[in-house]
Amino acid sequence: MPATTLEYLLERSEKRLVGVNATVAAKAIELIKLAYRNGINIAVTQGLRTFAEQNALYEQGRTKPGKIVTNARGGQSIHNYGLAFDIAIFDDNQNAVWTGNNYNRVGKLGQQLGLEWGGAWRSFKDLPHFQYTFGLTLSQLQAGRRPPSGGAVAPSQPLPKNYLERGDSGTLVKGLQGKLQALGFSVGSGGIDGDYGAGTEQAVKAFQKKYGLTADGIAGALTLAKLDEEYKASQKPTPTPAPKPAPKPTTPPAQDPAKEEPKVDKSKLPAEPAAREEVNEAIERGITNGARPQDEAKRQDAMVMAKRAGDFQDYQIQNLYTTFQQVKANLPLQKPEVWEEKLENGDVSQQEMLYLIAQLTLRSFG
Ligand SMILES: [Zn+2]
Repeated sequence: MPATTLEYLLERSEKRLVGVNATVAAKAIELIKLAYRNGINIAVTQGLRTFAEQNALYEQGRTKPGKIVTNARGGQSIHNYGLAFDIAIFDDNQNAVWTGNNYNRVGKLGQQLGLEWGGAWRSFKDLPHFQYTFGLTLSQLQAGRRPPSGGAVAPSQPLPKNYLERGDSGTLVKGLQGKLQALGFSVGSGGIDGDYGAGTEQAVKAFQKKYGLTADGIAGALTLAKLDEEYKASQKPTPTPAPKPAPKPTTPPAQDPAKEEPKVDKSKLPAEPAAREEVNEAIERGITNGARPQDEAKRQDAMVMAKRAGDFQDYQIQNLYTTFQQVKANLPLQKPEVWEEKLENGDVSQQEMLYLIAQLTLRSFG
């Protein structure tokens, strides 16, 4: 199996970046490298589309055979001005991956580089799409305005270091050590002291070895994600099966009264820094106001947050349903009526939602 190396991703992308504005192309390359450092393989799959190419693409599925892949005619896409590019995520064997939360993660990285991300659009989310228009709107571009050649670009924000290694210290290291210890990997005689020394390095290596990660003793994105996953799994009394797109349960199973008030072992609650990412995400979604993220949530607070999380999901499904209605005729889905019904009933798992967003984005709006 051919391996996905950074060289492969860059080489593949450079061909697609021919004709793209130099500043935008440089940002695309920067994004590929940044995503790679975060454990995500991406490559550019679309760059410049000439007006003629865009028109030809528009005719596909209309006057020409094939499926409809775009609603934009020549001049109506930022791609036509060399100011946009689309990416795809690849697995370790050079296969494209069209679903999953990594598209959102790459989107946020792109935003850190000052790129406009299609996933942040309100009307229609285009997860693989990035653009940089130098402040020009599509109408201005259509009217003939162009970015200044060699124009100054806002410098990208400095990126926080996103991995931990020997020599690091502080609360993040403490969080790391706490999770390792909880999973049975001793961090040495110092215990959870917030110093990433030889003991912690050994524990990280042992953890990486056990889960088939590169055992380099550096807690990078993949290691931290796996550690979080294992830690969370270890905190659940009984493993719940993965959510499956299943028919809605008609009646909730009877509650075992003994389980209604579980005793919480407070020593096992994640420390605040360890949960910071989750807290930030919840704040972003309006699930909690995050005013006191360091406080333990009361039962009542937890209920309120769970309710808001449910509302957020409903809101997303509602948006998806509206978009689906508008473009369903163009979709290459096997059973659009099944999807429509699921959306109408709000019976969509997170996984299905991401799949559908990818389908809507990739097939309908190219
Ligand atoms: Zn695009």
